[in-house]
Amino acid sequence: MKTPGSRAALLIAGLALALLAAGASVDALFPGVMPGGTAGAWFALALAVTFVFGLWRLAHHGVVRPLDRMEEQVAVSEHRIRAVLDHIVDAVVYVNEYGVIESSNPAAERLFGFGADELRGKGIAELLPPPPGIGAAAGEGLPAHLAGMDGEMREASGRHKSGALFPLELTVSRMTIHGRPHYVGILRDITQRRAQLAALRHQALHDALTGLPNRALLFDRIEHTIRGARRSHQPLALMITDLDHFKEINDTLGHPFGDLILQETARRMGAAMRSSDTVARLGGDEFALLLPATDAGDAVRIADKVMREIERPFELEGHNFMLGASIGIAMFPDHGDDASTLMRHADVAMYAAKREHCGHAVYRSELDRHSLEYLALKSELHTALESDQLKLCYQPVIDLQSGQVTGVEALVRWNHPTRGLLAPDEFIPLAERTGLIRGLTLWVLNTAAQHSRTWAAHGLELRIAVNLSVHNLHDGGLPETIRGIIGGGGQPLQLRLEITETAIMPGSTQALEVLNRLSAQGVRISIDDFGTGYSSLAYLKRLPVDEVKIDKSFVSAMALDNDDAVIVRSTIDLAHNIGLRVVAEGVEDRATYDLLAGMRCDSVQGFYISRPLEADAVLAWLRDSAWRPAAVGAR
Ligand code: C2E
Ligand code: CA
Ligand code: CA
Repeated sequence: MKTPGSRAALLIAGLALALLAAGASVDALFPGVMPGGTAGAWFALALAVTFVFGLWRLAHHGVVRPLDRMEEQVAVSEHRIRAVLDHIVDAVVYVNEYGVIESSNPAAERLFGFGADELRGKGIAELLPPPPGIGAAAGEGLPAHLAGMDGEMREASGRHKSGALFPLELTVSRMTIHGRPHYVGILRDITQRRAQLAALRHQALHDALTGLPNRALLFDRIEHTIRGARRSHQPLALMITDLDHFKEINDTLGHPFGDLILQETARRMGAAMRSSDTVARLGGDEFALLLPATDAGDAVRIADKVMREIERPFELEGHNFMLGASIGIAMFPDHGDDASTLMRHADVAMYAAKREHCGHAVYRSELDRHSLEYLALKSELHTALESDQLKLCYQPVIDLQSGQVTGVEALVRWNHPTRGLLAPDEFIPLAERTGLIRGLTLWVLNTAAQHSRTWAAHGLELRIAVNLSVHNLHDGGLPETIRGIIGGGGQPLQLRLEITETAIMPGSTQALEVLNRLSAQGVRISIDDFGTGYSSLAYLKRLPVDEVKIDKSFVSAMALDNDDAVIVRSTIDLAHNIGLRVVAEGVEDRATYDLLAGMRCDSVQGFYISRPLEADAVLAWLRDSAWRPAAVGAR
């Protein structure tokens, strides 16, 4: 090693040689000049001086000084190490071969809540208790759960002075000092990191809006529940729920409002379930319910319960309204023995429930075929609109006072090339979902206008009622389109539009604006299916509406069911009080007709008078039946 001392010794030795050489040459060149002697004497002197001096240098700098320096350096580095240990965030403990702490740094004191003096002498197992199930090692040395660690990182539990356990990350390094093993443990609290990880995991598996498990977690739970069901030989039920008309609410009242509804729906579904059940959100307004140890009978009962929960009136931010839902049910093992089959079949059943307006449906294999047909229908509807496969039928509306025909309601049919005549319930929802409803409504309006003009040419003027879908009221161009159709040549069309209660929920400003513009154009407006929604008559009074049509579900049975009769009577009275006309639809017999007449209902419609008629048949019917058209101006 070349210390500064050894370098100096070399220098001095070099100087001695130089002196020796110099002495010798002077003597050789100028004999006698050198005082008192020969080159040998100079040499001896030089050698002696330099030797002693060199020895001193060598002794002092080459051996003695380096030792001092080392001590100094050790002191410095010890100081540095101490400073580092004092300031690092990681806790460090130094443990002897008996598992007893000999020293620690301040981070260790903070981590465990003990002072340095308290830590010293404590068994490490007191701070790092063994995991449950593994007994603390008796006797000396490192506890069993730490023994054998050397350098690798591990997660463990720490015990705070308060007794609280917390997760930590731990590295133990083994070293041998004077032949005896010692251990340095480096520890770090990972409570926060664990919490962050848990939050991330939760985020990945839950829906942010409702906090419910998402599709991924649901799948996991289904698989898990299926495994349990196999072992216990018990069935399980999977349900898919889809809210009816949620899209309209979202479009009308805005997404933040839609979000509130979804949250409330999630809450209600959760309240209807057992704690062992899972309620998950699949996206949009679709939810899934997983019910372990449930047979088909129970599943249907629970579906009923969920329906009742969802159908309870919602009161949100001053808006009152009701929602419906459709539920599809698939059972393990009958309808599938893996998560994806069960999901698919519950979905098929849900669409069947929607189509059939029956609330809930249990999967059956025929539905598969049906859902394929449904898919096919979707694309065929496009063609239907363009190739004249649709047709309009008309159902007469009778004025109860005079018994005369005052108008007709236009009802669309689809004359399908292979399936025959399809009722609107089989394709209107499809048209609404695919956006074809706009074109369809336009077709209905134009066709009705044509028919009306044909009848007018025969001296028959009838007000025509056309059904609008909720979606039509979100088409700001509708009033303009209708203006064109009404005044499109010849006799102006006397048009009435029928809209359902859900279309004009409070808050639907755009729909209201469209209605006001239509009304200003002379179009009359009726509320259809009245009684099935939640609009109050008081609210209807503020709309440009002059008529309500009591839903046929109340009317058909009113002759037999007193409750229905009471509902119909009070609706008529209340509507009259606020100046609205009342039409009862679904009148199927004379008894109902007479009852309604006694209740002073304004108009009736129903199979008792006539089923919907094809356009060509309307004139003949009016000529041949007992019901006569009213004189012009009486409608
Ligand atoms: P809605 O507007 O309530 O029409 C009355 C429905 O009741 C018609 O069914 C009609 O045939 C039926 N009906 C009439 N009298 C009686 C009766 O005495 N007893 C019974 N049980 N039923 C009776 P339809 O034609 O199948 O229409 C069903 C629904 O489809 C309509 O209900 C309406 O909401 C919708 N719809 C029909 N045509 C159109 C349309 O052009 N556009 C739109 N958006 N919807 C339409
Ligand atoms: Ca109608
Ligand atoms: Ca109706």
